[in-house]
Amino acid sequence: MSFSACVLTLYPEMFPGALGLSLAGRALEAGTWSLEAIQIRDFATDRHRTVDDTPAGGGAGMVMRADVLAKAIDHASPEGDARPRLLMSPRGKPLTQARVRELAAGPGAVILCGRFEGVDQRVIDARGLEEVSIGDFILSGGEPAALVLLDAVVRLLPGVMGNAVSGEEESFENGLLEHPHYTRPQEFEGRVIPEVLISGNHKKIAAWRRAESEKLTKERRPDLLEIGKANNA
Ligand code: SAH
Repeated sequence: MSFSACVLTLYPEMFPGALGLSLAGRALEAGTWSLEAIQIRDFATDRHRTVDDTPAGGGAGMVMRADVLAKAIDHASPEGDARPRLLMSPRGKPLTQARVRELAAGPGAVILCGRFEGVDQRVIDARGLEEVSIGDFILSGGEPAALVLLDAVVRLLPGVMGNAVSGEEESFENGLLEHPHYTRPQEFEGRVIPEVLISGNHKKIAAWRRAESEKLTKERRPDLLEIGKANNA
């Protein structure tokens, strides 16, 4: 069974976008995953196909209507659909590689992309949407966030990446940032490849990489080491 993604958006033309190219694009063509982009506006009920309205309580911007979104969600994800329902949102739980792995192991995802100031809280509650953030910054819409999430998931699907091992050694997979990489030429503008990497001694190379990983993580992301400790406790 292939991973089935469904995106609810006011801009279905943004999909598959970058995911139609390279590894993800080839996997899409091969049927390793599928993608449906649904126009939320098709579920509006008035003549003007309105999807948003002014915020209750006043203030700037517009809010996406609960009734229209609920209709779109119920169409895309009827009762019994095992796929998690995600809402891309800066207030959500920050996306992690661990969550990406879980999603990749599941049947797919139904992803709602917000626009304007966001969506009416009642549809989040009523449809049990899981809010997911891709970082502490504000995008103009959930679409680029959905593309990011799907890119991370699709590359983990069986057969998508040629070399599965390279996936396991990457940043975050072991709670550490990855070690630096080098390739030919042996000398570049006076800088040479670290001696140990051309020694052919695989044990030494593994130890050097591990040490570099730990050093880099301590310098740049000490928070990851804390999380790792907490997970192992
Ligand atoms: N007023 C909101 C931001 C709305 S941005 C607030 O202050 O929290 C409009 C839409 O872009 C959001 O509904 C969401 O779907 C998407 N979005 C913006 N930033 C995001 C982020 N960091 N991660 C995931 N989605 C994001």
